[in-house]
Amino acid sequence: MNTAIATINPATGETIETFEPLSSAALEQKVARAHAAFRGFRQTPVAERAKKLRRAADILDGEKEQLGQLMTLEMGKTIGSAIAEAQKCATACRYYADNAERLLAPEEVATDAGRSYVAFHPLGVVLAIMPWNFPFWQVFRFAAPALVAGNVGLLKHASNVPRCALAIEDILRRAGFPEGVFQALLTGTDVVPRLLADPRIAAATLTGSENAGRSVGAHAGKHLKKVVLELGGSDPFIVLPSADLNAAVGTAIRARIINNGQSCIAAKRFIVHESIAPEFEQRFVATMRRLRVGDPMDPSVDVGPLATPQIAAELEEQVRASVAAGALLLTGGKRLRGPGNYFPPTVLTDVQRPSPAADDELFGPVAAVFRVTDLDEAIHMANSTRFGLGASAWTRDADERERLINELDAGQVFINGMVVSDPRLPFGGVKMSGYGRELSSYGLREFVNVKTVWIA
Ligand code: NAP
Repeated sequence: MNTAIATINPATGETIETFEPLSSAALEQKVARAHAAFRGFRQTPVAERAKKLRRAADILDGEKEQLGQLMTLEMGKTIGSAIAEAQKCATACRYYADNAERLLAPEEVATDAGRSYVAFHPLGVVLAIMPWNFPFWQVFRFAAPALVAGNVGLLKHASNVPRCALAIEDILRRAGFPEGVFQALLTGTDVVPRLLADPRIAAATLTGSENAGRSVGAHAGKHLKKVVLELGGSDPFIVLPSADLNAAVGTAIRARIINNGQSCIAAKRFIVHESIAPEFEQRFVATMRRLRVGDPMDPSVDVGPLATPQIAAELEEQVRASVAAGALLLTGGKRLRGPGNYFPPTVLTDVQRPSPAADDELFGPVAAVFRVTDLDEAIHMANSTRFGLGASAWTRDADERERLINELDAGQVFINGMVVSDPRLPFGGVKMSGYGRELSSYGLREFVNVKTVWIA
């Protein structure tokens, strides 16, 4: 189903602007322009593309305040985190500007040929279907490596962040990327199957929900198109008796409320050894209660509104169903009255299976705490999910650390730290969290033709 393309302030519910979806003719024009742009763009030296990325980084840094306000207006993240997001995009642009030539350089391989090597050539037009939760970061972590490798991007952004989509297109144009190399498509999801079938589109990447992943994966599969899927998560956060409890509790709070709780790699299931669980829970709940919920434009606010009323309603229902299944509600639990999609920091314990808090992704500031008796049970509990995105584990014991690194089924394991993305490290999931990687050399090479060259 298509949702209206509109900027609606999640803090007030006010509709600021609505957009007409692209007509079929306008969409066709953009696809044709992208396809034509690839012919010239693929010939440009990597160093030249890198220069444009550097310019994009400067624009992002220079305009971080306005860009931050735009993100906060459209999806409700706190203003400080929105400004930091613009800066993080600049960091990713600079990482690829600095490293692309090295990472894309041909790899010589000694064989019986006169010369043989592996070249990394762009694939063509890549369709990027992106979510609203990190409306700049998700797009730049695709665009920076894809464009520097010589690909061309078409962005189908989430329907609630159209101004962010247009702002990103504008930044990349001002940075010097030629006409047609990066275009935003203001359109609903109905056109995605048609785009994936179009022979002018070489590949696709989706960051979003499991359902969108199944649909995009199926259509891409039908047309044998390369696709990267970055989907949901229900990340475990394991705390064992040797952990630094102060640090663990402080990070647990940040890891749950990041982006008002709407992050794929937010810690969602807190798996705590029974010997320290009472103290962990007491401190965790006390801090969650003290957090300031309110206007995300106010820099002193910790938790802003959820992005849409539907997300708030779904979260409330997930909490209700988890409590009905036997969970204990320690704080929060219901939407706040009044305008805006506000939901208070919420903590559940004694979470039973099956229930949404144990089995599904809770996209909002709701923490589920589980008690375990030993490391085996902690690992078993952490892996008892269909997701496999990130995992954070807290211990000062070297043997425990090795077992956690080896046995947790996740795309990234952070020991004594919060799961975060970093342009220098690959990012992605296993199981229902998707496949393929973004960032680092791994992300760069997802959208290249790894070409063997053999010269007699
Ligand atoms: P979503 O509904 O799947 O939307 C994401 C994007 O996919 C939007 O552009 C959306 O367009 C589009 N879309 C939705 N259904 C589609 C379909 N059937 N075919 C083609 N495109 C479709 O996701 P969301 O709920 O907004 O975002 C939150 C989800 O993203 C969470 O599950 C979160 O964990 C995940 N996520 C994952 C990562 C990661 O790196 N692994 C990062 C961030 C978020 P419309 O807006 O027009 O519907």
